[in-house]
Amino acid sequence: MTKTKSRTLVITAGPTREHLDPVRFLSNPSTGRMGFALAEAAAKRGWEVTLVAGPVALATPKGVKRIDVTSAREMLAAVTAALPADVFIATAAVADWRPKRCAAKKLKKHEMSATLELVRNPDILKSVKCGFKVGFAAETGDPAAEAARKCRAKKLKFIVANDVSEPGCGFGTATNRVTILRADGSVRPLKLMTKRALAAKILDEIKGLSA
Ligand code: C5P
Repeated sequence: MTKTKSRTLVITAGPTREHLDPVRFLSNPSTGRMGFALAEAAAKRGWEVTLVAGPVALATPKGVKRIDVTSAREMLAAVTAALPADVFIATAAVADWRPKRCAAKKLKKHEMSATLELVRNPDILKSVKCGFKVGFAAETGDPAAEAARKCRAKKLKFIVANDVSEPGCGFGTATNRVTILRADGSVRPLKLMTKRALAAKILDEIKGLSA
């Protein structure tokens, strides 16, 4: 019996940390739950999954290849090495800026100043090449307009937008209520559901668009 070729997925999850010395960093409260739920669901469907994870406290889903990274630049390097893939999903909450300098040793108080010079991090989702890219947009207020702009700017098949100020929809919650905005302009609002259930919906959306 011939085995059908499995689909390949590269996915980012969790926060990044941008160090200013070995013990201090800039980051955000992302827990990686959405990305890990998607990686798990895709592996259960027989996909070959590479999960590039920032620092999170989650177990690796069964059948998933996991690469741990710390900073945005490490995440970009790991994603670039893992591609090509059929699909790239970016769920990671990547820090947009990093300290211009990172000290090799812990800075003493008198060595620090009240201002921190920052430089832009690479936009991983925008810069990588993949024929099927999916992004996430965590906004406050009405997420639709901003998410549609990001969908076009990053050349995505669709973007999953949510209002993180809504109850049950913030960082680290088990649930989320999102709107899926496709590149063709169609908008699909979904009800509040668990991130596991949402992962299945997102994979169905990918299947529908690749058929
Ligand atoms: O522009 P914004 O950060 O809101 O875009 C969010 C989407 O872009 C998410 O899918 C996120 O994972 C991805 N992203 C990225 N690299 C960045 C910033 C965001 O991959 N530096």
